[in-house]
Amino acid sequence: MELTTLYGSRVFGDAAMRKYLSRDVYESLKRTQRDGLPLDPAIAASVAEGMKDWATEQGATHYTHWFQPLNNITAGKHDSFLEPVSDGNAVLEFSPKALVKGEPDASSFPSGGLRATFEARGYTAWDPTSPAFVKDGTLYIPTAFCSYTGEALDQKTPLLRSMEAVNTQALRLLRLLGNTSSKRVMPTVGAEQEYFLVDRGLYENRLDLKICGRTLLGAKPPKGQELDDHYCGRIRLRVSDFMHALDEELWSLGIPCKTKHNEVAPAQHELAPVFDSANIACDHNQLTMETLRIVAKKKGLACLLHEKPFAGINGSGKHDNYSLSTDDGLNLLSPSKDFAKNRTFLLILAGFVQAVDEYADLLRASAASAGNDQRLGGNEAPPAIISMFLGENLTSQLFSAAAGGAADMHDLELIKTGVSALPDLVKDDSDRNRTSPFAFTGNKFEFRMLGSSQSIALTNVVMNTALADVFSQFSDRLEAASDRNAEFSAILADVVREHGRVIFNGNNYSDAWVQEAKRRGLPILNSSVDAFDAFIDPKNIALFKRHKVFTAVECASRHEILFENYAKVVNIEAATMIEMVCRQIYPAVVRYAGDVAEIVNRMRTANLVSQSVVNQLHSLTAIIDQIDSELCSLREVYARSQSLEDPRHRAAYMRDEVLGRMDSLRAACDAAEKITDRAVWPIPTYTDLLLRV
Ligand code: ADP
Ligand code: MG
Repeated sequence: MELTTLYGSRVFGDAAMRKYLSRDVYESLKRTQRDGLPLDPAIAASVAEGMKDWATEQGATHYTHWFQPLNNITAGKHDSFLEPVSDGNAVLEFSPKALVKGEPDASSFPSGGLRATFEARGYTAWDPTSPAFVKDGTLYIPTAFCSYTGEALDQKTPLLRSMEAVNTQALRLLRLLGNTSSKRVMPTVGAEQEYFLVDRGLYENRLDLKICGRTLLGAKPPKGQELDDHYCGRIRLRVSDFMHALDEELWSLGIPCKTKHNEVAPAQHELAPVFDSANIACDHNQLTMETLRIVAKKKGLACLLHEKPFAGINGSGKHDNYSLSTDDGLNLLSPSKDFAKNRTFLLILAGFVQAVDEYADLLRASAASAGNDQRLGGNEAPPAIISMFLGENLTSQLFSAAAGGAADMHDLELIKTGVSALPDLVKDDSDRNRTSPFAFTGNKFEFRMLGSSQSIALTNVVMNTALADVFSQFSDRLEAASDRNAEFSAILADVVREHGRVIFNGNNYSDAWVQEAKRRGLPILNSSVDAFDAFIDPKNIALFKRHKVFTAVECASRHEILFENYAKVVNIEAATMIEMVCRQIYPAVVRYAGDVAEIVNRMRTANLVSQSVVNQLHSLTAIIDQIDSELCSLREVYARSQSLEDPRHRAAYMRDEVLGRMDSLRAACDAAEKITDRAVWPIPTYTDLLLRV
C-alpha cells in the first residue's frame, strides 16, 4: 500500500466520514469535533450506521467502548455486531445507544474510595472529538468513563473538562487583546516516547522484567553508555526492522509518527509524533505504548516502557511538548516581529510563568510514580524541582517589557560554518537546555519530567487548568482597567516580580541549583510520596473546583489511588525479588560454592592446596550468608507492610523501609554475580540484555 493510502486507513476519519455519512450528518459531526459543540442526538443513529458499515468492511466483527481507567493502561469490553434474529439467522446491528453509552462495571477499576460511597455502576460516554478506529477486528470507540453520579473514573473526563476551561479563559483574554477572529483555543501536545528493546527469549528468563518491567538485580556490565556511542547511532538491522513494522502499524492508525532514533543508553530508543490536540495526543500515546509492546513481541523482542529498567544507565521519560493554538492557525507561543502579536505572545508567556510557579507542586505530582522515583534527579532526567528555561533573550525581553520597554523581536543571527560550500545557518533564538524540566523550545514548552510509562493526561489537565486560572486573572484585570496598555505592563511586572523565581536558565543537574532553588523557596519534592499530597492541598482543590475540572471528592479519590498504586508497585517488586533470590540466585550461588568445596576436597586428597581456590570458597560462603541475612530482613519488612491499611502510611513505609532493604539485597546478589561461574548464573546478565539485540 502506498504510504499516503496507508496513513489513517484504519481510522474513521475525514475520508471515511465523507463516504459513509450523509452531508448533513457529516457537517454536524464535524462541527462537534472542530468547535467543541454538543453532539446533536438526532445524528447518533446515522453515525452509528455509517461507522458499522465502514468498520465491518474493514473486517471488524466487534465494537468496544475504549477508555482509560486510572492505571495508565486502556480498557474495554468487546461486543459483537452480530444480533441473532428468528429462524437461526443473524443481522449486523449497532444502535445509536450502543455508540453513545456503555455500562462497564466500575467496581473492578481503581476508584480511590468512590465505589465505597457510590454505586458500582459505571458509564462510558462516546468522545466524538477523538476518532474511532479498527484494530484486531474490533471497532474502537474512544470514550470517557464516569460513575453513576458523574464522578470521573478515568483520565479523559478531566482532560476534556480542562480543555474547555483553558479554551474559555484563553479566548476571553485574546478578545481583550484585540483578537476578534479566533473561535477556539486548543492545547496542542506532542508526546515524545522513550523505550528499551531487549531480546524476547532473554526477557522471558527474567521474572523481574516480566512482572515489574525493570531489573531488580544485575551487576554493572563492563560497558554501559560511557562512550556516548549509542545516541543517534546507526540503527541495528533488527531494531530497524522492528521500527518499520511499528511505523506501519502507527501510521495506519493515523498516529503521525515522525522521528525515530537511538537514545543515550544501549538498547534505548525514542519516537516522536507530530503534535495534535491534547485529547487526541493522549489517546495516540496510549495506543503507541500498546503497539510498541505488541510489535516487539511479534518481532521476538520485548519493549520495556518502565522509567528505569536498568540501574547505572539512563532511564526513559516522556516529553510533553505543549502549546496553545487557535482554530484559525495561531500558535500562541510563537514569538513575532509584529508588535501587536508579540504583545499577545508575551502576555501568554507570562501566563505560563505564573501558572508553572503557582502550581509547580501539582505539575510535579502529575509526573510522580514509584517507577519515576527511580529516574528523576539521576543526572539523566530533570531533578524533582520545577523550574522554567526561557533562554537569555526571551528572559530579558520579558523583563524589559515588564519594565515598560518595547518588546520587539530582533533579527535572527546567522551561524557561520566556515566552509564555503556549506550554507550559513539561521541561529535559533536560544540554545537548548537539556537539563530543564520545563523548557521553552522556540514555539512550545517541553515538559520533561513525565515517566515513560505514564499517561500524559494528568500533566495536561494541570497545565490546562493552571493556565485557565491565570488567564482569567489577567482578563479580570484588563477588563477592570481604565488604561489597558498600562495594565498590560503592570501584569507583566507583577508576574516577573512574584513568579520570576521559577525562571532558571542554568544547569539544573548541578548541586548549586538545588541550593539556589531552596533559597528561592521553590518546592523540592524528591519522592512521589511527598508529591502526591498536592492533590489535597486546599489551594489546588479550589483551583480544580473553580474551573469544574475536579470536585473535592474526585481530588481525594485521585490522591488515594496514587498512594495505593505506589504501595502496590513496590509490594509486587519486593515479592518478585524475594522469589528470584530465594529460588534462583541463592540456590545457584550455593551450588557453585558446593562445586568449589568439592574441588578443595579433591585437592586436599591429592595433597595439593591452592590458597586462591580456598579464598574463593570463603568469599562465596560469606556472600551466601549475606544474601541470606538481607533476604530475611526484606522478608521481615515485607511481612510488616502487609498489615498497613492507610494508603499514605503504607506508601511511606514502602519507600522508607522496603525499597532500602531491596537495595541492600541487590548489592549482595550483584556481588555474588561477579564471582559466580557464568555457566551456573540462572538469569541473563546486563551485558546479555543490553548488547544482544
Ligand atoms: P525540537 O526541535 O524542539 O525537538 P521538534 O519539531 O522535533 O522540536 O518537535 C518535538 C516535538 O514537539 C514533536 O512531537 C512535535 O510535534 C512537538 N511540537 C512541535 N510544535 C508543537 C506545538 N505547537 N505544540 C505542541 N507540540 C509541538
Ligand atoms: Mg525532547
